[in-house]
Amino acid sequence: MPPKAIVFDLFHTLTGLESEWCDLPWTSDVLGIDRAVWNAALTTRSRWRLAGEEKDPYRIVARLAREIDPRITDETLLRAVEVRTARFRHSLSGVPAANVETLRKLRAAGLRLGLISNADVMEVAAWADSPLAGLFDVEVFSCLAGCVKPEPEIFASCLEALEVTAQESIFVGDGSSDELIGAKAVGMKTVFVSGVIRELWPEKIAERAAIADYHVAWVPEVLGLLGLAPARDADRVKSLLASLQISPDTLAARGLVLHSEATTLEVAETGEDGREQLLTPAAAEAWRALSTAARSDVVVIRIVSAFRSVQRQAEIVRAKLERGLSLEEILRVSAPPGYSEHHSGRAVDLTTEGVRALEVEFENTAAFEWLSRNAQRFGFSLSYPRQNRYGYAYEPWHWCFRQSQA
Ligand SMILES: [Zn+2]
Repeated sequence: MPPKAIVFDLFHTLTGLESEWCDLPWTSDVLGIDRAVWNAALTTRSRWRLAGEEKDPYRIVARLAREIDPRITDETLLRAVEVRTARFRHSLSGVPAANVETLRKLRAAGLRLGLISNADVMEVAAWADSPLAGLFDVEVFSCLAGCVKPEPEIFASCLEALEVTAQESIFVGDGSSDELIGAKAVGMKTVFVSGVIRELWPEKIAERAAIADYHVAWVPEVLGLLGLAPARDADRVKSLLASLQISPDTLAARGLVLHSEATTLEVAETGEDGREQLLTPAAAEAWRALSTAARSDVVVIRIVSAFRSVQRQAEIVRAKLERGLSLEEILRVSAPPGYSEHHSGRAVDLTTEGVRALEVEFENTAAFEWLSRNAQRFGFSLSYPRQNRYGYAYEPWHWCFRQSQA
C-alpha cells in the first residue's frame, strides 16, 4: 500500500553536514568540554531540556555544562549560548537545496508531510527563517509538545494531526534518540538516513541500518524508494532483467544493444481500432512520406506496433513466461526489456490486407515487395532478416528508421 504521509526528523536528517553548518566553533569547544562527553549529556541526560521543562537558553547550557565541569564561568556560558544559538540558526538556514526540493516533490505527489524534532528552544529559535518552514502539514517540536522521541506520544500526536494511521506513514531519520525504534514500535515503516551522521558517528550506522526497513545515504533517495524518481535507464533495465531472471551475459553474447526510450514522440498513424502509433518526430515524418508513396502505388501498409516503453516490453516478456514459455523461446522472438528497437521510437511492425499480423507470410505480400524496393529511400530498413546476427527469428514485418540512411 503506498503511504499517505512521510514524517521526517529534522537535525542530521534534513540539515546538512555539521562540519559545513558554519565557521563558528563547536559549543563543546567554547565550553572546553570533550565533544563526546558534551554530546552524551545532550542526547542521553537531558529529557528536561527537550521536553521544554526548561526554556531559558542560559539555564539550559549552564545546567548541562556544570554537570560536567562545575568551574565553568558565567562569561564562558554566555558565549556558549550565543555560539550554540548561532550554529543552529546556520544549520536551519543552510538546509541543502536538494532536501528542500525533495519535500516539494513529495508534496506535489500528494503526500502529507510531518516533522518530529527532538529540540530545545535554542535549537529551533530560527525555525521560522528556515527554507523548511511552511513545507510541512504538521510540525511537532518536543520542547513545545512536552514529549520526546522515542516516546509513542510524540509519534501519535503527529500522526493524529496528519489524520493518518501509523501503517499509512513512513518515518525518515538519522536514528538518533532511538527514533527508528520508536517509529517502528508505533507501527510506522522506517527509513534510515546515514549521510550526515557518517562524519559524526560512523560506528552507529550498521546497527541503525539493521533496525530500519530501508537505508539511504541522503534524503533525495527517498523519492526513489517511493517510485517518484525515474531511475536512470541502465539501472532500471538492470533491475527489470533481474526480475525476469534474464542474465545480461547471454544478451551480451548475442550482441544485443541497449536502446534508450525516446523522450519526444508524436502520433505517426492512428489505427482503425483508434490506437495511436507513436514515433519520434523525424521517424513519424519519414513514415508518413513512405505510407503516402506506397498508397500512390496502390499498396496499403499499416503500423501494427511502433513505440513501446521498456516497462511494456517487460510486461510482454513476463506474460509469456507466465504462459509457460521458456526464456530461450521468448527471447528468440521478443527483445528483452531495454533491448527492443521499439524503445527508440524509430521501429515499426507493419502489416497489410489479407495476412495475419506478425507472421512470416508477410514476406509474400505486395506490401513487403514494395518495402524491399522503396523503404530505403525513406530511411527505413529491415532489422532482422533471415540468419540475422542477433539470433532473432526472421521478422519481415519489423522495419526501423535510421536517419543516416534517409
Ligand atoms: Zn518489431
